[in-house]
Formats: sequence, C-alpha cells, structure tokens
Amino acid sequence: MESYQPSVLLIYTGGTIGMIENPETGALENFSLEQLQKQIPELQKFSFRIDAHQFDPPIDSSDMNPEVWRELVRIISEHYDEYTGFVILHGTDTMAFTASALSFMLEGLRKPVILTGSQLPIGVLRTDGKENLLTSIEIATACHPNGRPIVPEVCIFFENHLMRGNRTTKMNAENFNAFRSFNYPVLASAGIHIKYNHVQIHIQTEYKMLKPHYLLDTNIAILKLFPGIQPNVVDAILGTKGLKAVVLETYGSGNAPRQEWLLKRLHDACERGIVIVNVTQCSAGTVEMERYETGYRLMQAGVVSGYDSTTESAVTKLMFLLGHDYSPAEVRKRMGRPLAGEITV
Ligand code: ASP
Repeated sequence: MESYQPSVLLIYTGGTIGMIENPETGALENFSLEQLQKQIPELQKFSFRIDAHQFDPPIDSSDMNPEVWRELVRIISEHYDEYTGFVILHGTDTMAFTASALSFMLEGLRKPVILTGSQLPIGVLRTDGKENLLTSIEIATACHPNGRPIVPEVCIFFENHLMRGNRTTKMNAENFNAFRSFNYPVLASAGIHIKYNHVQIHIQTEYKMLKPHYLLDTNIAILKLFPGIQPNVVDAILGTKGLKAVVLETYGSGNAPRQEWLLKRLHDACERGIVIVNVTQCSAGTVEMERYETGYRLMQAGVVSGYDSTTESAVTKLMFLLGHDYSPAEVRKRMGRPLAGEITV
C-alpha cells in the first residue's frame, strides 16, 4: 500500500505570533516567516512538507478586512489539492471574524483550515505561540486511516482547545486562554494526546467540490442596546445611507425596552427592507423572542432571531448573504438556517 504523506500550507498574515521586540524601543515589530521558522526549530521535526505563504507586509489583525478574507480564500482554493490542510497565523483581535467569514466563503470544505496566533510573541521565553503553532500543524494534517482529514472545518486552535471557528469569541485580552466557544462543544482538546470530539465535528456526507465565494456586502451595522439609549443614536444607525442589515445586540434571551419609539423605528427599518437580526449580549445562551413580551414585541416589529449566534458570525454571515444579492426576505430566512454549523436551531 502507498504510504500517505501529509503536507501543510502555513499562511502567515501577521499578529503578535510573528512579532519580536525591538531591543532599542521595546516596541513589538513584525518579523519575517523565515525568522519565525528560526525561532521554532521544532518545525523541522515534522517529517512532512510544510510550505509557507507570507503576507507582505504582515498585518495587525485590527486592520483585517474583507479584501484580506478574499485573498485567504483565493490562496486556499488555488492550493486546495496540494495540501492535507492549512494553518493560518493571525492576530487574535479579529481572528473570530476571519474564522467566521472563511467558514461561509469556503463552501464544501473537506480539509482542515486552522487559525491560530498567540498572546505573547514567539521571541518571548514564555510564548504561547510555539505550542499553538505546532499543535495546529498536527491537527491540520491529522487523518483517519482511510486518508480523510479528521477535522474538515474552519477552526481556531488556542491554548489546548480546538473550536469551530464561527462559534468562537475572543474573551480575554490577558490570559493565554483567550478564546471560547460558549455555545458549541470544543472539537478537540490537546493534552498528552489530542482527543477529538468526533461526534461534534462536521463531516460532509455527500461529495462536494470546494466552492470558493468572494462576494461580500459590508453595508451592515451593529446596534448594541443599553439602558438609556436615545432615539437620535438609533436614528443615526438605522438611517445610515445604504444600510442593508443590522445585528441588534439585545439583553438576555433577546429582549429590548418596550418603548414605542424604539419598536416603531425598528419596525419602519424592517419595512424599508433592512434585515435586523437579534443576537444576545450574553456570552452564552440563545435568543428566544417568544419567551418574554420584551422579546415578542421585537418579533412583531419584524426582527429575526440570530439564535445562539456570536456577533462575529452574524455580521459575516450577513455580509456573505447580502453579497449574493438575495432579497431581504430570503436573507431573513437564511439567517435562521445553519450554513456552516454556526447556529443551533
Ligand atoms: N493586535 C494583535 C493582532 O490582533 C494582537 C494579537 O495578535 O494577539 O494582530
């Protein structure tokens, strides 16, 4: 029998993982992938092919945008057949947005796309980057005995946990344990062994080719409610020129104040064809608008449920659906159906 040789494409976009301290100024500066490889000699211990693609210049993930997501999709789809899996080194700040966007843009994905980064730069003694990178490579090349990848999903691996990308949120700016998937179990835990949670991993049952998508519409806003929110703030957001959709961050299980001015403005915006999706401000749990009158009134105004979606996932899913030029009614319908395991319905 032919022996199977895995391979991985390492895509370095930037972020803390690839930074080094300038000895003179003490500031963190980007350094090249070559230098990164020098800092992690362990990479050479992998007995298979690791190729690299570097963004030039590397970008802090605060500068991440849909143009870069398209570039990532292009790189992955152009090299799709050449590698067992892909590892993307990315700044942590917006990693959950990128992972969510890629999960929608890479339709029919059957290979691992693992995003990782670090809280401390690779050059620092206590860095978490080494461990994150090495384990991500291992996961990206892990296959069943029949050669099929174990995790054919877009994921984030961070501090011993593999999570579905579109379920994650960065929830800590200090700890190594920076990401959480509050509403979906982890897909794997890394200790002495990497233990895969096979039942939670999405497997494509029918054969599909990878279908890369590039169209995204960014005419979206996030409206976060707070006690005392004023009509002029809501007007400014809902009256934004060209606005097509709003992620409405509500309280608890999807509740909002019952003030008539607010409900009327939301209702009028829905009537104008703006899609308003209700996502909870809570880290965990789901929107159930029928539970309290405060949620029920939103439903009557035309707001649709985002279920247990993260804000990152709701924003990027809306960009993706609006990019397809679906009617507002169709976008509303599709927000209620999982595209890539991003909601539980
Ligand atoms: N500002 C950095 C970034 O997101 C932080 C990090 O990488 O953790 O690119």
